[in-house]
Amino acid sequence: MTDELFSILASIVTALQSLSLPTVLFCLLAYLVKGKSALTAFRTCLPNSIFNISIMCFNLVLISFTFTNLGWLYSINVVEAFSQFWESLPEWLVILSAVFCGDFIGYWRHRLEHSRMLWPSHAMHHSDTNMSWLTLQRFHPFNRVTTTIIDAGLLISLGFPPYSLVANSLVRHYYGYFIHADLPWNYGAWNKVFVSPVMHQWHHANEPAAYNTNFATVFSVFDRAFGTYRVPSLCNIPLGISYNVGGNIFGQLLYPLKLSSYFKKFKKTQTKSIDT
Ligand SMILES: [Zn+2]
Ligand SMILES: [Zn+2]
Repeated sequence: MTDELFSILASIVTALQSLSLPTVLFCLLAYLVKGKSALTAFRTCLPNSIFNISIMCFNLVLISFTFTNLGWLYSINVVEAFSQFWESLPEWLVILSAVFCGDFIGYWRHRLEHSRMLWPSHAMHHSDTNMSWLTLQRFHPFNRVTTTIIDAGLLISLGFPPYSLVANSLVRHYYGYFIHADLPWNYGAWNKVFVSPVMHQWHHANEPAAYNTNFATVFSVFDRAFGTYRVPSLCNIPLGISYNVGGNIFGQLLYPLKLSSYFKKFKKTQTKSIDT
């Protein structure tokens, strides 16, 4: 038991240490973009950032006790031809394909998270009213588990080798930090290919027209292809959810456990595509 506690503590310390480099980088970016007002922005988003780091630690502890080993996913039967196909390609192309396919899977999984069935466990991610790069850590444990099983399970089923899954996770993790950062950045013509911080801010915008738009993490091509792309301008409207999804961290953890949460209003489908 003592060994288990030490290993959980060690994983929390490692996770907190892994935040140090992004902290320096995003503080620097905030200062370059906002100047001295970055300090005010930091103070404003501090309560939500504390929430985000707390839920990150909670998920680590819970995963240590419950889903320590998702290696069983590798027992999924893979069509031999799929594995042989990826083995025949250079590693860089396999990684690029894994990230592209991973984002396609992530796009549809994210759309599912905005359905009545999965919204109560996805609502925690959207409850951040002062979004920052740390919002990427704000996920209900149910949401973490379904994301991992759906994304990794389908990529493994397609025969992708383990190294490409690791690369895909790293790309999605660090690019995920970037698109959640409070940066007023669009990519101009490249918006048609990649998700920008502004595009993802619109995904979190608290207005009906923004609900159920901009689901992709890396490639905006999926939102464009399936009619959910919407980036009308820089995003200067309030973010978050206007109704109560549990209040504090404990209330939000309980929210998807309540039957009533599945019968409340939720973000409705909106498929109108609007270009910049
Ligand atoms: Zn969402
Ligand atoms: Zn998000």
